[in-house]
Amino acid sequence: MPSHIQHEIAQNLDLDQLTALRKEIHQHPELSHYEGQTAERIKRFLTQYNPTEIIESIGGSGMIALWTFSEDGPAVLFRCELDALPIQEINDDLLYKSVVANVGHKCGHDGHMASVAGLAQLLHQKPFTRGKVMLLFQPAEETGEGAAEMLEDEKMKAIQPDYVFAYHNLPGYPLGQVLTRENTFAPASAGMEVFLYGATSHAGEPERGNSPALPMSNIIQAITDLPQSGRYDGFVLTTVIHALLGEVAFGISPGYGEVRATLRAHLDSDMEKLKQQAEAIVKQHATAKNLEHKIGYREVFPAVTNHEEAMTFLNAAIEAGKLNQQTLKEPVRWSEDFAHFTNRFPGALFCLGSGKNQPALHNADYDYPDELLPDAVQLFYNIADQILREERHGS
Ligand SMILES: [Zn+2]
Ligand SMILES: [Zn+2]
Repeated sequence: MPSHIQHEIAQNLDLDQLTALRKEIHQHPELSHYEGQTAERIKRFLTQYNPTEIIESIGGSGMIALWTFSEDGPAVLFRCELDALPIQEINDDLLYKSVVANVGHKCGHDGHMASVAGLAQLLHQKPFTRGKVMLLFQPAEETGEGAAEMLEDEKMKAIQPDYVFAYHNLPGYPLGQVLTRENTFAPASAGMEVFLYGATSHAGEPERGNSPALPMSNIIQAITDLPQSGRYDGFVLTTVIHALLGEVAFGISPGYGEVRATLRAHLDSDMEKLKQQAEAIVKQHATAKNLEHKIGYREVFPAVTNHEEAMTFLNAAIEAGKLNQQTLKEPVRWSEDFAHFTNRFPGALFCLGSGKNQPALHNADYDYPDELLPDAVQLFYNIADQILREERHGS
């Protein structure tokens, strides 16, 4: 796309209104699964731009606004997240500081929402002639539940996009730099929970009870060492994040223990292996000491795998917009439940740098930079343009 068209697109954006929306959402953050007010605010905003349809209450507060253009053509979906985090905002100088105690938009999802909502302005001002564009607002990303909950909803049956895209803002990289990667963009991860049941006894007679202390320490060691076993096809990582043993009582030998670890893998197949091997370790050490055990998982994310064809459109859109692009050598370290979308539809996840000197995501002073909004909206529009523009007919 020549730069004068890029400029023309920018002229169709009402940045003041978009920034106001971002700040309003920032000031009224809502936790995962409680995003009803946020969805309402977005709906009020989108209605001004005459969507063909708005579908609400999908898998909770999930919402899709869609624009259907005159001729048949592909459908392209852009996704963002509605939820904030249980973190107290400490940016006292912000005029739009969170008014909700202990809740803040510390992952920049407020900015993602404004970016996707900004696309509505362009679709209204500069509509395409064919196909469909779907703007999807997803609840409960931070807990890893929202994407799956939306996709399981009956209302999603009518939504069959040909391509899905999403971005995450990323501090530590130059503002507006597009960070891309073929194949795995974000790893699979799972929170493993281990419960060990023995028997308490007097601390003076530990032999009369059954303490999980030593099996626990063996399990912690063995799970930590798992990535070095050489059995995996890609990168894997295990991080023991929590342990609990007995009570703070010097007269009691403990009878109960818990261990929690986060498992990560670049490949879903390695994640399966990692789980099996971690479970075998728990079983081995627990049964050797006659301990009952239970294993559970929370916050399970598959790996985000970018599709080749979607990457071709993304790369073309970046080139058309003459944007600064960097290819990531390794996938990012965090997980994203957008994986559920890319598992079902061809798609791609990418990042936009939010500035080199920004605080890290989930830090109590993080605030999405509004200067990133025009880049984000224009890139989304360029991606849709690559997929929907007429010249591609029959090519
Ligand atoms: Zn987050
Ligand atoms: Zn996030």
